[in-house]
Amino acid sequence: MIPFEYIRPSATKAALDAAKSGASFIAGGTNLIDLMKRGVTAPQKLIDINQLPFKQIQENKGQLIIGALALNSEVAEHAVVKDKYPLLAAALNAGASAQLRNMATVGGNMMQRTRCTYFYDTSMPCNKRVPGSGCGALQGYNRMHAIFGTSDKCIAVHPSDMCVALAALNATVSLTGIKGTRTVNFGDFHRLPGDTPEKDNVLKTGELITGIQIPANNLNKHSAYIKIRDRASYAFALVSVAAALELNGNIIKDARLAMGGVAHKPWRVTASEQFLIGKTADEQTFEQAAQLAMQGARSFGGNDFKLKLAPITIVEALKKATGNA
Ligand code: SF4
Repeated sequence: MIPFEYIRPSATKAALDAAKSGASFIAGGTNLIDLMKRGVTAPQKLIDINQLPFKQIQENKGQLIIGALALNSEVAEHAVVKDKYPLLAAALNAGASAQLRNMATVGGNMMQRTRCTYFYDTSMPCNKRVPGSGCGALQGYNRMHAIFGTSDKCIAVHPSDMCVALAALNATVSLTGIKGTRTVNFGDFHRLPGDTPEKDNVLKTGELITGIQIPANNLNKHSAYIKIRDRASYAFALVSVAAALELNGNIIKDARLAMGGVAHKPWRVTASEQFLIGKTADEQTFEQAAQLAMQGARSFGGNDFKLKLAPITIVEALKKATGNA
């Protein structure tokens, strides 16, 4: 491992000042340490933010506020989350392993890098790791890769489950930097690869995630997170679907649908959501919504199966959300 400086500030300003000239923030370290060990990244300075005051999970003025340093397991087990935001609890519990959820933070979950094999193998070309070096996955092993929002530079997927639920729940993200604070819609935080796949998100140099906010909703009675993966535990999604409905009788009043394992960011399917609103909650409606969700999908050989798997998973998630699975 390449030598690096390590500091552990107890105040946010000290952390931001230390990050001015470039550094990596570290909290649980469940992905960053792997990346450093394998030579994928080599920060000169690590700023341990575990002493900063971003661990809260609380309701405030009709929204749920979750600090960036709240642990994945704490959020998933929190009474308010389980009662009012069960979609988030389900997505969190589908991620990683119990041990990892006890270490990983909400901010770190958002910042985790793709698990594309070529990204982690420093002997292989990868535009995300070394811009301009090529993409090993385009013509190579791409079973896990994206079917939406790809570019000819990168077809990687974002690996998070939690982020899929947060996109569906209209969360917002609070960021702070030496120039001030700002709020970003969760769906705008992660980005598509385009010509700059090395950039996973819209964070500026030295900016820090401080927390997320989830507005109150009436989706808690009918939600489901389905994750299709190679093993029952500790595996990343081939396809996942976060579905939540507000029903008036059997008529859909509000709908949220987002997918994981299919794009460089959590893939919100707003066209399907709009289609569902006002319709009867039945299998025929769900199948039509699923077909709508697949518009623009493109596969790359190894991941051709996702074109069939994704709409099936959408229908199953909507059926499960309505108790008809
Ligand atoms: Fe790298 Fe993206 Fe290609 Fe994977 S898909 S090899 S991360 S450029």
